[in-house]
Amino acid sequence: MSDSASPPPYTVSNTGSLVPGSSKSLNRVFFGRIIHSKSLKEVEIFPKASLGVDDKGNIQFLDANVDSAAEACAKHPGFANAEKVTLKPLQFLFPGLIDTHMHAPQYPNMALGMEGDLKEWCENWTDPMEASYADTSKAHRVYREMVQKELENGSTTVAYNSSIHPDATNVLADTCLEFGQRTVIGKLCILVGSTHGNWEKNAEQSIEDERKVVKHIRKIDPEGKLVMPCIQPRAGSYVPPELMAGLGDLCRDSEPIRVQAHMCETPLEVENMHKLHDGFESYADMYNHYGLFGPRTILAHCIHLTERDIEVMAERKVGVAHNANSNTCLTDGWCRVRQLLDKGIKVGLGTDCSAGYSISILNAMRQASNVSRHLTIHTGDPAWKLDFEELVYLATMGGAEVCSLDHTVGNFEVGKAFDALLVDVGLDDNINTNGFEHDDMALLKKWVFMGDDRSIRKVFVGGRLVAGKDLKA
Ligand SMILES: [Zn+2]
Repeated sequence: MSDSASPPPYTVSNTGSLVPGSSKSLNRVFFGRIIHSKSLKEVEIFPKASLGVDDKGNIQFLDANVDSAAEACAKHPGFANAEKVTLKPLQFLFPGLIDTHMHAPQYPNMALGMEGDLKEWCENWTDPMEASYADTSKAHRVYREMVQKELENGSTTVAYNSSIHPDATNVLADTCLEFGQRTVIGKLCILVGSTHGNWEKNAEQSIEDERKVVKHIRKIDPEGKLVMPCIQPRAGSYVPPELMAGLGDLCRDSEPIRVQAHMCETPLEVENMHKLHDGFESYADMYNHYGLFGPRTILAHCIHLTERDIEVMAERKVGVAHNANSNTCLTDGWCRVRQLLDKGIKVGLGTDCSAGYSISILNAMRQASNVSRHLTIHTGDPAWKLDFEELVYLATMGGAEVCSLDHTVGNFEVGKAFDALLVDVGLDDNINTNGFEHDDMALLKKWVFMGDDRSIRKVFVGGRLVAGKDLKA
């Protein structure tokens, strides 16, 4: 198996723009088992297929009618001299996993603080930890380790929440660009309802700092190829009307831009939003009123929704980050994913660390499966259960839709960026492949429910090899 070449590393030039490194890059052809999601109801598995990636990191062909990498190279113009990668019998290519909701500064708190509910957890763990990123050197130290771990766990795209600090947020953006992770990043905006000094001086400063971060990200990655800015009100209960209105204005001034926020996480949080924003029929009406609701809006949780919320969400085409692990750990409640999907609302999966204790989207798939089954136990209605094909979709294409990146990543359609994992389920790890698997879907299920970073041998973002256990071998 040849695996020597990968596209050149990206570097930040003197002018701050993203430029490719100097080493020569090649077209590549992968041959072997290729798996991706076609729709909520269909996982497409090619037992033997070839996939061609050009030197810009884009997919040029997915061909199931060839018997070898060499045959694919001969057949497809421009690939005659491509590097050939033939997968081993228990390996497969799978799209990069997409985490639609993760709190970068909370990474050191992973697995801690589950004793309390959301309010207690914020006050005892999150607020002091997030406030500590006023020390930008901490951001340098934590974010380098975190981004590396994220990539090793197969998260090629992540929508990150940061802290209230523009400098620390810019460090996060620089780090993601350096490591080659596709990301959506914004500075968190908080004025009220927080503790341990984890709030900003006033609305003007909060808006100005968000503007600075947007400007920085657009400078280091002008085309938004990897790092994309967003506007980030923490939630309706932390951002009073004057700041929410200012962020709405900034959103309009910065179009096209994404929005990340929390919504309807607990009944108390909904109640506090209504106290701060008097007169709105629903949480969704509030965000919509301030111009923060649209197809580029990513909303975490969406558990305690009213019929009116769902109506506005569907109408405005927002996306939902379903954080099953976090919602269980903090006993927030069950997000009714089936109901959202039935209304045509986009849904992806999020890890929501550190309220969730795992940065792995494989774990998020398992937790989403379990939460959907608990809904069935609770209601007696089997319709709540998410099918395996749906879990695969949510972790890849669903996440891409929520991040407004479905034209770029999420599966192996020709023209998309090659964000992919080379998975090996034949290793000495937790996966008990033993020859009794009756088909390739069984291999995929064993990886999803039993695998971890050990089975992720290579991680590609935009064709660039960025992580994976083979890099450390
Ligand atoms: Zn969150």
